[in-house]
Amino acid sequence: MVAALRAAVGEAQVLIGGDLSAFEQDWRKRLRGRALAVVRPRDTEEVAAVLRTCAAHGVPLVPQGGNTGLVGGSTPDESGTQVLLSLSRMNRVREVDEANLSLTVEAGCVLQTVQETAQARGLLLPLSLGAEGSCTIGGNLATNAGGTQVLRYGNARELCLGIEVVTARGEIWNGLTGLRKDNAGYDLRDLYIGSEGTLGVITAATLKLYPQPAATLTALAACETLAQAVALLQLAQARAGSALTGFEVMNAFSLALVRKHFPHLRHPLPASPWTVLIELSDAESEAHARDVLERLLETAMEDGLAGDAAVAETLSQSHDMWHLRETITLAQMEEGLNIKHDIALPVSRIPAFCEATDAALQQAFPGVRLVNFGHLGDGNLHYNLQAPEGADSAAWLREFEPRVSRSVYAAVTAAGGSISAEHGIGSAKCEELVRSKSPVALGLMRTLKQALDPSGILNPGRVLAP
Ligand SMILES: Cc1cc2nc3c(=O)[nH]c(=O)nc-3n(C[C@H](O)[C@H](O)[C@H](O)COP(=O)(O)OP(=O)(O)OC[C@H]3O[C@@H](n4cnc5c(N)ncnc54)[C@H](O)[C@@H]3O)c2cc1C
Repeated sequence: MVAALRAAVGEAQVLIGGDLSAFEQDWRKRLRGRALAVVRPRDTEEVAAVLRTCAAHGVPLVPQGGNTGLVGGSTPDESGTQVLLSLSRMNRVREVDEANLSLTVEAGCVLQTVQETAQARGLLLPLSLGAEGSCTIGGNLATNAGGTQVLRYGNARELCLGIEVVTARGEIWNGLTGLRKDNAGYDLRDLYIGSEGTLGVITAATLKLYPQPAATLTALAACETLAQAVALLQLAQARAGSALTGFEVMNAFSLALVRKHFPHLRHPLPASPWTVLIELSDAESEAHARDVLERLLETAMEDGLAGDAAVAETLSQSHDMWHLRETITLAQMEEGLNIKHDIALPVSRIPAFCEATDAALQQAFPGVRLVNFGHLGDGNLHYNLQAPEGADSAAWLREFEPRVSRSVYAAVTAAGGSISAEHGIGSAKCEELVRSKSPVALGLMRTLKQALDPSGILNPGRVLAP
């Protein structure tokens, strides 16, 4: 088996033994597995050869991009029997088609590099997330990543025109079309997007580009309640229309953690129960964007939706505002082990959901600290929790995490929401998926898995529990 892998990708690209922690440990440091080997192919043909080798030997395989996933999907289990397939060497830009507003890149391209490639041509790839400096296009599509611009441009799925996939049997499907319309048969592209490496390995993708906006402006607004933040969102949608490209929310405790662990970061507004970050992108001019944004915030303050607001005057002030939002995840890590819930709800139900669920959790788990933030514009909250102040987080999580998460997910399902908005299911949420989906939906998913990966070698134990 190892000899065949070496023949497929070259001896130096099959890593066995030594320090493989970068591949074997997940980003949150909650999981540490052991790989039979880490295999690093250089192109699609080599990926196909690896898949054929694994299929012939019945050896399971875990695809990995930037290893920034948050649900335990990209690292091997502890058995030492799974091959870790790292796509990181497949990082070439194959084509930029400016007239078609599209580009084709290999799966291991880092998102930020692809953004910069588009930017250098005056174009925009509107996929943006906190991990963009290390996550890859393959991982973004495999998880159907969301991020901060979904409100305007949609998830990774909406930004993808075509993909290239290696199947469980090692065949190559070239679906790299740059078409915006294609109703010829079942949509295989959409089947693989969001399948978290359980149906096939994505090796390349053709992505949509947009013209760069003439100006992008950022503002912060202070709200007393989440209901006010939702009303502010409605106002912003009415006033700015498609120019509204970001609408994020952060509770006071999430920003308090940023203050505590990253004291050098600037906070333009004093602390308030909720801080909203608004981003407007304007095709016309900065003056036009500023006019819309300032009038919108004035109305919000007159109507009592916001108590205070600050508009970034420079690009660096705008970056500072985004930095606050994007540092919350790191600040949580610094504070200690924590519990994450990446949930989606209809925006209209979010205030009542949070009020009821916050109260229920605080009663059942006294002292628990709520780190609630996220992409309010598209109804996605990171409804996270930190152990009580001074508690041993590891011990607290061991005792309470299953019960805490059960009650959050039960409330989400009761409110018509989703237990996974943008991070996926991985190994962390398999059981919850079974609780939240109907038997018919689960049956259809199993049928697809059986058809596309009959020997079950692709990322076993992820998405669908064995
Ligand atoms: C600080 C931080 C902020 C984040 N913010 C966001 C956010 O705003 N929105 C969001 O959606 N996510 C966010 N994430 C989660 C994560 O960055 C995304 O899920 C990202 O899309 C994962 O990309 P990756 O290349 O790191 O994939 P990995 O972590 O390597 O893999 C993720 C999953 O995809 C599979 N996979 C990877 N590559 C392939 C491939 N080529 N073919 C088939 N399967 C593959 C893996 O097996 C695994 O199941 C954040 C993570 C961090 C650490």
